[in-house]
Amino acid sequence: MNFKERDRKHLWHPLTQHKLHPEHLAIVKAKGVWLYDEDGKRYLDGISSWYTCMYGHSHPQIISRVKQQLDILDQVVFSGFTHPPAIELSEKLMSALPSKMAKIFFSDNGSTSVDVAIKMSLQYYFNRGQKRKRIIAFDNAFHGDTFGAMSVSGLSVYNGPFEDFLLTVDRLQVPDDHNLPVVLSNFKTMLDTGEVAAFIYEPLVQGAAAMHMYRPDHLEMLIKMAQEADVLTIADEVMTGFGKTGKNFASEYMHTQPDVICLSKSLTAGVAPMALTCCSQQVYDAFYDDEISKGFFHGHTYSANPLACTAAIAGLDLLTSEEIQNNIKRIHKRHLEFEQRIKSHKKVKQTRVTGVIFALDLDIKMDRYGNLRDQLYAFFMEKGVFLRPLGNTIYTLPPFVITDGELDLIYKVMEECLEIV
Ligand SMILES: *Cc1c(COP(=O)(O)O)cnc(C)c1O
Repeated sequence: MNFKERDRKHLWHPLTQHKLHPEHLAIVKAKGVWLYDEDGKRYLDGISSWYTCMYGHSHPQIISRVKQQLDILDQVVFSGFTHPPAIELSEKLMSALPSKMAKIFFSDNGSTSVDVAIKMSLQYYFNRGQKRKRIIAFDNAFHGDTFGAMSVSGLSVYNGPFEDFLLTVDRLQVPDDHNLPVVLSNFKTMLDTGEVAAFIYEPLVQGAAAMHMYRPDHLEMLIKMAQEADVLTIADEVMTGFGKTGKNFASEYMHTQPDVICLSKSLTAGVAPMALTCCSQQVYDAFYDDEISKGFFHGHTYSANPLACTAAIAGLDLLTSEEIQNNIKRIHKRHLEFEQRIKSHKKVKQTRVTGVIFALDLDIKMDRYGNLRDQLYAFFMEKGVFLRPLGNTIYTLPPFVITDGELDLIYKVMEECLEIV
């Protein structure tokens, strides 16, 4: 039996209806932008394995530092203890993050970083003697799959069974050139209740909403309004963080900084699961007290795992290197050129680019997980390119180390797929 067959016996995969999708391709090796299956066929990783491996798979610099760390300190309790990799990471990250950030809280994945941010906001007001029960989040938001994160997420087809158990959330339309006045007025009505603890958003790009992009100046108006109403702002940068929007963090596109930032995905360059909830001194100070119960009593066993911290330090060094910064600019420029070439094609409804993210909507109707989506996926894989269409949207978010020739391969299969739909 090969891996594909053995997989079926005991494994239950994420986000999968196994009756409809029983087969899972076994990837046995990955290097740079390439994934290799058990038959030796290779696939260009056009979405950086869900936006994690932004420096390519098994980057030598990251591997060698993690290997060194493995000989020194593998894992230790982070409550009562601290260690050099966590300290070094905090110092490095603080110099890269927006200046308002002052403290870093560790967890294990994007969803928990959001749950931590939500609990922080609720307790922030609780500690000040206010009971605030509402959170504002965007339509079609995606913030993860744990209960808090699921509550503020908007894609509810999958949340049906849990709806009765979710937090109280006010839904706001994502602003655009047409609805802006309505959005601002709805937002004001929500803030005026005085019951809102936080406004959470994915800055500039809503990944799971098929790479929906919106304007930084619109978002800035909302952040300002929230802060003027003494409501905490949470930037969920789990997807947008670490260079993908063209700046190190999408929050840098606004002058007004959020109170809390969530990070995960490419934080450890795809090496280990880890997440951070970063907050301002003001947020931290609401927990700093002689009374023990005012502290933040939340924690995960693997908080600040030294190997994950080391990978994150190596990743930050790469991100801030001239080579990677130039690559980000190059990929962005290539995306814009491709956009010019493809946008007037009769089967293309819309195209959009932010940083290294390129997306195009096909001018055809289909379900999010419909048949055509499977057909497109199979078409790309057959051509040796790993892309995961979302509904009628085809997009790429390639590793920063992708070459021009490899980018051409992605553009080529995207163009070819227009002929089969
Ligand atoms: C992926 C994602 C999450 C959830 O992260 P997990 O590590 O999958 O739990 C949260 N928010 C955003 C914006 C994401 O893209």
